[in-house]
Amino acid sequence: MIRVFENTDICSRNSFKVHQQAAKIIEFDSNDELSQIFAEHIHGEWMVMGGANNILFTTDIATPIIVPCNKDIEVISEGSEQVIIRVGAGLEWDELVEWCVARELWGLENLSLIPGKVGASPVQNIGAYGAEAKDCITAVEMYFPEQNNFITLAAEHCNFGYRESVFKHTLKGRVIITAVIFHLSKVANPRLGYGDVEREVESRGGATLRNIREAVCAIRRAKLPDTAVTGNAGSFFKNPIVDSAVAQVLLAHYPQMPHYPTAEPDKVKLAAGWLIDQCGLKGYSEGNVGVHDRQALVLINTTGEATGSEVIAFAGKVQQRVKEKFGITIEMEVNIV
Ligand SMILES: Cc1cc2nc3c(=O)[nH]c(=O)nc-3n(C[C@H](O)[C@H](O)[C@H](O)COP(=O)(O)OP(=O)(O)OC[C@H]3O[C@@H](n4cnc5c(N)ncnc54)[C@H](O)[C@@H]3O)c2cc1C
Repeated sequence: MIRVFENTDICSRNSFKVHQQAAKIIEFDSNDELSQIFAEHIHGEWMVMGGANNILFTTDIATPIIVPCNKDIEVISEGSEQVIIRVGAGLEWDELVEWCVARELWGLENLSLIPGKVGASPVQNIGAYGAEAKDCITAVEMYFPEQNNFITLAAEHCNFGYRESVFKHTLKGRVIITAVIFHLSKVANPRLGYGDVEREVESRGGATLRNIREAVCAIRRAKLPDTAVTGNAGSFFKNPIVDSAVAQVLLAHYPQMPHYPTAEPDKVKLAAGWLIDQCGLKGYSEGNVGVHDRQALVLINTTGEATGSEVIAFAGKVQQRVKEKFGITIEMEVNIV
């Protein structure tokens, strides 16, 4: 079914809770409806939105916003060690994680409680606690309006990286992801080496899938603001990846600076939250925007009245302070519209 909403305030549809008007929001349930949507409602530019947990709206939106709502989970194949599933783009990500954990399927448990829809998960290759969506993605199915056809892109062609994929580059604004195909494992593979996960898991009695999911949820609830209460978009900035030589110079000044190896031997990942905290900005606010007091990587809508432009201006000041103190540029992770 196709549902069209005209001249709507998108405040309740975006996690930062900014007020902007959307000229047209088009929800659809079935892939068959996409050609009809493009024939009847799209006469130029368009955009796709999931739960808008990673979009900051800075202006009213004149272009139609397409929202996939297919929530189906279909088992494609099941072997003794692996299960392959196809999941509709409109399913809540955390419902998928719960579905897997309830069936003793390993792979997504460290990504518990990340807000958003399944269709957005490949876009920035969501990641947390030492896991990334790409670890379990086999392929991504999408509609390609330019040719009015559907294509399936194997994971090796998605150019997945740290919060990166082809969907943020050459395919940005050109495809609508309709489903994601995941491979999950029946063989236990606990990944506990990140942050407090191991301690939280042990305190729950050991590395079962359920305990890992509950541990990750508990850690996230303690650290991150609840979007239902305080508008935010999770990590506002990416963790910067710098040359090892740059990291060495910084470590000589700040021996306690967190730093992590990357896939490239001469590159090191730093913690943007730590850099912001060292600038004395944790808990700092101006006007309607602030830095969260438990996680400096998160910017929040402190009063509920912030506009997107205010958030961008505040983010610019945070970037500038980090640049002045450390000489490092921290990039925004959030999509600005
Ligand atoms: C409290 C909080 C915590 C968070 N924690 C994490 C975290 O730990 N790790 C992490 O990686 N992210 C995190 N995020 C960011 C966010 O949850 C993810 O980016 C998530 O994937 C966004 O899903 P969404 O459905 O809300 O996507 P949206 O915000 O609606 O869209 C994000 C981008 O994807 C595009 N897009 C969405 N759906 C489709 C589709 N079907 N086809 C094509 N393009 C599409 C949009 O156009 C947009 O560019 C957090 C956010 C919040 C608010």
